[in-house]
Amino acid sequence: MIQNVTVYCASSSQLATVYRESAVSLGGAIALRGWGVIYGGDSAGLMGAVADGACAAGGRVIGIIPQRLYDAGIRNPRCHEIVVARDMRHRKEILESRGDAMIAMPGGLGTLEEFFEVVVGRQLGFHSKPIVLLNIAGYFNPLLAMIEHGIEHHFIKAACRGLYFVAESVEDAVDYLGRHDKP
Ligand code: AMP
Repeated sequence: MIQNVTVYCASSSQLATVYRESAVSLGGAIALRGWGVIYGGDSAGLMGAVADGACAAGGRVIGIIPQRLYDAGIRNPRCHEIVVARDMRHRKEILESRGDAMIAMPGGLGTLEEFFEVVVGRQLGFHSKPIVLLNIAGYFNPLLAMIEHGIEHHFIKAACRGLYFVAESVEDAVDYLGRHDKP
């Protein structure tokens, strides 16, 4: 059963409106399903937008912040719960363990690292949580092409395509997770 969904997404605030709107709508859609949002805990960029969307829909938001960022005052006051992690690695561990499902929205290096870590964890059988790559405005198309390139050259097994679901919209993403929301 899904209680909390971990959302990986951009810290950048210089993004096209489509990304911000999708992030607000994703936060709202997760909250309307009755799921909590687990995320990086900042109010910057798409992270803040997801949290805003979830809070506006009455949802619960849990931020995971490494000690060093927390000490520097980085946190979103809208979070219902803040978990302070020892460091970035510990934060990723908590982001993964507290979520029953994962969604990667468009993001930068931090988001890519988080996405690949949970995909590889699933590939190696460390967990079996559903993972969604939310391909807003085709942002991840070059990444998906790179993965196909890896499959073509036998660096990546074709079965790896099944480790994550590529959603083209927020509705697709949340409907997919809804199909996994069974006791
Ligand atoms: P990026 O995609 O490079 O913008 O990094 C965003 C991802 O990395 C988020 O999912 C966070 O978990 C983490 N992250 C990176 N920078 C920050 C920050 N300033 N505050 C909180 N989380 C961050």
